[in-house]
Amino acid sequence: MSVLSIRVLGDPVLREVTQPVAEVTDETRRLIDDMFETMYAASGIGLAAPQVGRRERVCVVDVEGAAYALVNPEVVHAEGPKAKAEEGCLSIPDVYGDVERPGRVTVRALDRDGAPIEVTGEGLLGRCFQHEIDHLHGKLFIDYLSFLKRRSALAKWEEEKEQYPGFIRILKPGRSASEHPEEEL
Ligand code: ZN
Repeated sequence: MSVLSIRVLGDPVLREVTQPVAEVTDETRRLIDDMFETMYAASGIGLAAPQVGRRERVCVVDVEGAAYALVNPEVVHAEGPKAKAEEGCLSIPDVYGDVERPGRVTVRALDRDGAPIEVTGEGLLGRCFQHEIDHLHGKLFIDYLSFLKRRSALAKWEEEKEQYPGFIRILKPGRSASEHPEEEL
């Protein structure tokens, strides 16, 4: 397994719509395993393929020990009440904002073996599913912010992005300590 570098805001791959995976192969599994390792190295709780520069419709999630590899995931049911919470993103380091989302979602996907699964998540897990599935459609959490909050988030990013030449964030292997109490997805 390898820790991959993470693409940050400004890399066009983050705005592309991913391609559905026709068949889960060893290549898909290698991507999944590398994505888990990368997510853990970044102390994240979710990671989507475009964040590592890939176009497959694949994401991984690990919220409080509930780990899922999701291939071709779709939200098939969302229900309220809507909840607002602060989100961050491994592709927009050190930028945070409140996002309102349905409190509970049911996701249908294929797992690492290509078997169909259906999983319902609420709270942080449900939020994480929605954030990662958005990534697979080129959507980022900052898109949900009000005009003013988005402008201030982007101003903060203007300062941060200097650290990531070529829009690439290079991680060191092993779990790193997050400097921010909130989780990044
Ligand atoms: Zn993200």
